[in-house]
Amino acid sequence: MISEGIPLKSYQYQPQLKREAFTILKRGILWATYVSCVLLSVVLLNSYFFDGFYFDLHSLQFKFIPLFIVLLLGLITIKLAGFENVGVKQTYLYLILLVSGWSYVLLGLALLSDQNMPGIESLADVLVLVFALALFPNRNVMAFAIFPFLAFSAVYHSMQYSQVLIYPLTKFLCFLGIILSGQKIISGWFFKAVSRNIEKKKLLQQFKRLAMIDGLTNISNRRHFDEVLTQEIKASLRNNKPLSIIMVDVDFFKPLNDSLGHQVGDKYLKRIAGVLNSALERPRDLVARYGGEEFVIALPDTDLSGATQVAEKIKQAIADTELAHPGSGVSDFITVSQGIAQWHEGMEPAQLLETADSLLYQAKSAGRDCYLSE
Ligand code: GH3
Ligand code: MG
Ligand code: MG
Repeated sequence: MISEGIPLKSYQYQPQLKREAFTILKRGILWATYVSCVLLSVVLLNSYFFDGFYFDLHSLQFKFIPLFIVLLLGLITIKLAGFENVGVKQTYLYLILLVSGWSYVLLGLALLSDQNMPGIESLADVLVLVFALALFPNRNVMAFAIFPFLAFSAVYHSMQYSQVLIYPLTKFLCFLGIILSGQKIISGWFFKAVSRNIEKKKLLQQFKRLAMIDGLTNISNRRHFDEVLTQEIKASLRNNKPLSIIMVDVDFFKPLNDSLGHQVGDKYLKRIAGVLNSALERPRDLVARYGGEEFVIALPDTDLSGATQVAEKIKQAIADTELAHPGSGVSDFITVSQGIAQWHEGMEPAQLLETADSLLYQAKSAGRDCYLSE
């Protein structure tokens, strides 16, 4: 029964998987933004303090400005709109700008340096690493982001050491192969983690539902009713609205079991539960199986006269079922007795139930197949 609700095929997870993947991708891009800020500072510091960097500082700083603006824009957008509210288009546009900003910095550094600088190639390699880690949930997006840096690293190297083309080419292919195949493994773990999480949530929902439902009749059980009644009493007190309950008990049910058998008795109980459920029209009305052949109904925003109308409707609906009852002392068909009580300020749930129960008992004494209210 439980397994019915558990999705078994991976495609069933696709919408949730897509959503989760995008959230993690966004988090990755945010992380890449912070790392970019640190990297940008490190590159700037390097350019100031290390010997052998013969840059024209003014032109160099000019190369940093677009990236600096992009980073600032990204952080301001997240701050103003909130991380959750940043959409798909905004995210991808920002990523394109971020990658372009870094590419511009790399090109700027390469064009400005008049000597071979392994630091520039290393920076491109570090960027490959950063974007590969940040964007692992989406293979295509990750490939798009790392490609310019991988290509830059290879081209820059081959330009510096033009005699050894094999090294940058092998490096490019190895990096690309390792990152893309590694991404497959990591995304596999990611898929498993997300799908397990979804299964867990679904199971939890099912367990919660099962804990509230009566196994035979499929309507609410006593535990759920007690919870709802407590809530409805609070709501009535808050909103100054009436609240009534009806206790319903099947007449001569023991003789019915004795004459038609327990299985028929069970069938009757299911049918009666269905009839009671159909008799209730408002969404907040609730019927529950309170015990063996006893049911209870909560009617929020309903006073005694409204509840009495519901009780009459139930009496008619039960009569309309014309379920044969050979052992009944009052009819050829199944009948019910009902006790109707209204909640008054200061009344505990148990007191309300006791009142309805005692009225039900009086209805039994009054000849059954009837209802009594306070
Ligand atoms: P009354 O008109 O006074 O209510 O008579 P009654 O026979 O209905 O009252 P009583 O409470 O003595 O008997 C209830 C019977 O309901 C006892 C039990 O055999 C039967 N019963 C309780 N739970 C179930 C159930 O789940 N299935 C079936 N088939 N019978 C049940
Ligand atoms: Mg009974
Ligand atoms: Mg009973």
